[in-house]
Amino acid sequence: MRIAVASGKGGTGKTTIAVNLAYTMSKNGEDVVYVDCDVEEPNGHLFLKPAIEEVKEIGVLNPAVDETKCDGCGECGKVCRFSAIVVISSKVLTFPELCHGCGACSLVCPKDAVEEIKRPIGVLETGTSDSIGYIAGRLNIREAMPVPLIAQVKKAIPDNGITIIDAPPGTSCPVIEAVKNCGYVILVTEPTPFGINDLKLAVDMVKSLDIPFGVVVNRAEAGDNSVQEFCALENIEVIYEIPNDRLAAEKYSQGDLICVAIPDFMKHFKMLSDKLMCNSLAF
Ligand code: SF4
Ligand code: SF4
Repeated sequence: MRIAVASGKGGTGKTTIAVNLAYTMSKNGEDVVYVDCDVEEPNGHLFLKPAIEEVKEIGVLNPAVDETKCDGCGECGKVCRFSAIVVISSKVLTFPELCHGCGACSLVCPKDAVEEIKRPIGVLETGTSDSIGYIAGRLNIREAMPVPLIAQVKKAIPDNGITIIDAPPGTSCPVIEAVKNCGYVILVTEPTPFGINDLKLAVDMVKSLDIPFGVVVNRAEAGDNSVQEFCALENIEVIYEIPNDRLAAEKYSQGDLICVAIPDFMKHFKMLSDKLMCNSLAF
């Protein structure tokens, strides 16, 4: 079963929920894998401190044009939906940072002038943290193509057990790649005007993907009741409310798992975990 932890914006505590949930479920005897799909800024490792066993380079196939074969017909430029290859005055220009590696330009070239060359975009890390499996993607600096890396990260997920996917923040393509095919999505939010605004966007996203979901309010009591009111109005389940706690913030800033550092938080994550396990919608 795959559970994605997502949020409409960064800084809501998404990773805090994901790593502490993974830890708590593991301590409860579940076979758990934590998967960091926030490949532009993976930070689950700061809390789980995994032993990395393998680092694999991930790349995408980009076109390389053999000018001695090319006659400037323009077919490659016409087929590319991403303007990653264009033909101007019979000269072919390629823009690797826009290329999605679909291979269409190579397929349509009548002169067999387009070769596909692998371009590294990041790495896939696998390892373990205590009894938790750990999988993470790490995008290269200045690389603009997180989606193919996230797809490769998800391919590394084993079929068995519980997978907690730490999705990128926001509602754009990388998030959709991370949450698609999951059995359930936890939308993490905080009780502020910014939180409710981004929650609405995230709700629209998961509804469009037709994935069951519920809301976790992090740092509850730090704001108003607008999230709870919105969820009641929209018939969205608030799965759990994590209390606002100064010590928890301190432990987080020190890279500690709050469920380990503060016994009350182990109880909170146990209750959240139990609720997810009992929620027939989730699985
Ligand atoms: S591989 Fe696909 S995305 Fe990349 S340049 Fe060719 S047609 Fe465009
Ligand atoms: S399709 Fe092939 S021959 Fe035509 S412009 Fe592109 S690379 Fe050149």
